[in-house]
Amino acid sequence: MSTIIPQLIIGTTDLAAAFLFLYGLKRMSSPVTAPSGIFVAGLGMLVAILASFLYVFSVSAAARPHLAVNVGLALVALALGGGIAWWSGRKVALTAMPQMVALYNGMGGGAAGAIAAVELFGNKAQGLAQLVVTLLGALIGAVSLSGSVIAWAKLDGVIKKPLRVRGQQAVNALVMLATLVVGGYIAFVTQSGVEPLIPMPELITLFFGCALVFGVLMTLPIGGADMPVVISIYNALTGLAVGFEGFVLQNPALMIAGMVVGAAGTLLTLLMAKAMNRSVGNVVFTNFGTPAKHKQGNIKGSLKPVEAGDAGIFMRYASKVIIVPGYGLAAAQGQQKLYEFVKLLQAGGVDVKFAIHPVAGRMPGQMDVLLAEAGVPYDLIFQLEDINDQFAGADVALVIGANDVVNPAARTDKSSPIYGMPILNADKAKKVYVVKRGEGKGYAGIVNALFYGDNCNMVYGDAQAVLGKMIEAVKGLGLAAAA
Ligand code: NDP
Repeated sequence: MSTIIPQLIIGTTDLAAAFLFLYGLKRMSSPVTAPSGIFVAGLGMLVAILASFLYVFSVSAAARPHLAVNVGLALVALALGGGIAWWSGRKVALTAMPQMVALYNGMGGGAAGAIAAVELFGNKAQGLAQLVVTLLGALIGAVSLSGSVIAWAKLDGVIKKPLRVRGQQAVNALVMLATLVVGGYIAFVTQSGVEPLIPMPELITLFFGCALVFGVLMTLPIGGADMPVVISIYNALTGLAVGFEGFVLQNPALMIAGMVVGAAGTLLTLLMAKAMNRSVGNVVFTNFGTPAKHKQGNIKGSLKPVEAGDAGIFMRYASKVIIVPGYGLAAAQGQQKLYEFVKLLQAGGVDVKFAIHPVAGRMPGQMDVLLAEAGVPYDLIFQLEDINDQFAGADVALVIGANDVVNPAARTDKSSPIYGMPILNADKAKKVYVVKRGEGKGYAGIVNALFYGDNCNMVYGDAQAVLGKMIEAVKGLGLAAAA
């Protein structure tokens, strides 16, 4: 069969897939349209996968005898990968999403590396430019794979502490240099035709080995609190690697998808770094999240516990309440109860708003998703810069399962690991209620002076259970709704 028609169909389908990726991404920019955006992008992926099967019509005569086996293998891989993804996607808790993203991102990097490995071991690259792009894709993909696996292990608690040794950065630089030298040597040998010092397969294996080791070494010393930024960096790198391999395979869908992921990952990295008031270099090369050297300072005051019911009733009689949700709300899965409580307050005429910190929770946007899941209307949800001035005029700030994002040390304590991070001004409200289970610290592992403030009371307990008690107490008042 002529290959022109299949090629035309493949090209058109790839273009359609790329359009669906971009359109899906555009819809993901708002929580209202995000679910359909994910569906559209998923549809794009399906189209791209189907298009890749059309290549069976244009394989060379030499490859034709292997066609049935290869298509069979691809179908088995699809069933296995799709099945595992479907199962894990349904099973994963929202709080474990960052780990899952890290793993899937690592697989993307690994897939790009695998494509490059097939090209390199098969000596398929045509010309220096293609070889260099293949090597770059291999390098970035391998670093992204091993680095993402370490990031997963840290987020999942498999690796509990950052591992640091003296001179680590020099070692990392040496390993990177070695990877580049081996890569350069591969390019030189392939292009010049001279006999390599060691056989080519070993040379390529050494190249991948060095790149994988570099990914591990680069990620091990980085503190757990920085992992989401690191994952975002690896996400950008994976996109780049996939884009490079798309160029090598001359596959437009892969090129566009890779570049979109690369650009999105880069933007997300910059936004997260900005939200923490840190540079990306600072994240990668310093030791954030290690409280060892941080002096907690002399925090004055005491923790003042109150009953959940009393706090609930106080808020029912307030005029303006701002709620600051954090990681603990997601951990407790308290979002439905929270909105039920909010509706009770609103029915009593209380003005209720939600204040979202850009890095509240464990991944960007987690609080928005959590509140959307509970059906909280978007016009009640405000981002940090839009609401921070309003805390001073609020009767109550209800901090629920949040800690670092309302820690005033970020403003004042230069030795604090979160110094410089913009925080929500919960401490400026007339009254602050903090809902948490005990004296557990936040992700940065530091004490929070807000909790000891004169205007602050602690409401101890699991967020969902506490909200249940607040609801009960307010309903127990038997007041008629204002509305
Ligand atoms: P924090 O991690 O600072 O604090 C969460 C608090 O929730 C803890 O102090 C804990 O206290 C409490 N908690 C845990 N479980 C429950 C529960 N079941 N019920 C009630 N309370 C509970 O969360 P924040 O959202 O304030 O801050 C996010 C932190 O994570 C920041 O340091 C940020 O930099 C970091 N980070 C954010 C990322 C993002 O992209 N969003 C990514 C990576 C890190 P206790 O144990 O006493 O209950």
